Amino acid sequence: MNSFPRPVVVVSKCLGFDSCRYNGQTVNDRFIHLLKPFVEFITVCPEVEIGLGVPRSPIRIALQDDKKVLYQPATERMVTDQMIAFTDQFLTSLADVDGFILKNRSPSCGSGDVKIYPGFEKTASSTRGSGFFGGEVLERFSGLAIEDEGRLKNFAIREHFLIKLFALARLRKVRDEKTMKALVQFHSRHKLLFLAYHQAGYRQAGRIVANHEKLPIENVLERYEEQVKLILTKTPNYKSMINSLQHAYGGISDGLTKEEKIFFLNTIEEYRDERIPLSTVLHLLKGYALRFNNTYLLEQVLLQPYPVELVEITDSGKGRNY
Ligand code: SF4
Repeated sequence: MNSFPRPVVVVSKCLGFDSCRYNGQTVNDRFIHLLKPFVEFITVCPEVEIGLGVPRSPIRIALQDDKKVLYQPATERMVTDQMIAFTDQFLTSLADVDGFILKNRSPSCGSGDVKIYPGFEKTASSTRGSGFFGGEVLERFSGLAIEDEGRLKNFAIREHFLIKLFALARLRKVRDEKTMKALVQFHSRHKLLFLAYHQAGYRQAGRIVANHEKLPIENVLERYEEQVKLILTKTPNYKSMINSLQHAYGGISDGLTKEEKIFFLNTIEEYRDERIPLSTVLHLLKGYALRFNNTYLLEQVLLQPYPVELVEITDSGKGRNY
């Protein structure tokens, strides 16, 4: 239960790995620092890779004949083709990865909140979109755990990111093992988690595992992986999460005292009202599962979907629906 795979994550290099920003600085990100012992990071700085150097004059995205171009106003240099070529070469040569953490607002790495100017002049009016590298990541790897460091300051988004990242890393191990036994075990260990995310999706995943069509294991794994990505697309609705928590509680409630039952149900209400994080409820459940040696619950990934050391209650304050 407590051994975790090591997810492989591609990360923007300036997020604490190198002083490669345009101004020669780095961004010290607390969450990424916390992740370092648990994740295998592959770092990349697309702007340095295309030869822009450090420090450098900033680049930006503008529209030219309705097409996005990347250019450096100070030198009037266009770097669109270089960036597209590097991005293609880098992403094509990537081996198995489970996720990406990208620098927000960057015309290269940004995944969704990058300024796009209507022309070459810097005007007040601009729209928002993805950077050249970040946009291509979203296009090619849409099912993976992809976030920018700005959004990860939100507690709910960070929790979802970690759940997805570690689930995908576990699934990668199953793919490597390539046996029905490993797949069945994965599916049953993720039951409560997947039910919390997407009930119909979980049932469809069960039909894929049942494999009534007698497909080869490679096809089953491929279909199953697509289904898991679909299940984990969105942050779970807290109501379905509470259903899963109540389901887990049903497995241990008989052994609890009246006071403990009231305490647990109140804890769920506190989670419903966003006064405590999910991890607090899970911690309590795990304590009960250990006390009653409930192996079914102890094996459920929901009780500890990622290493406890990564639980951080800091939050941007934008709430569960950000
Ligand atoms: S945002 Fe991307 S391109 Fe810009 S400095 Fe960071 S890693 Fe390099």
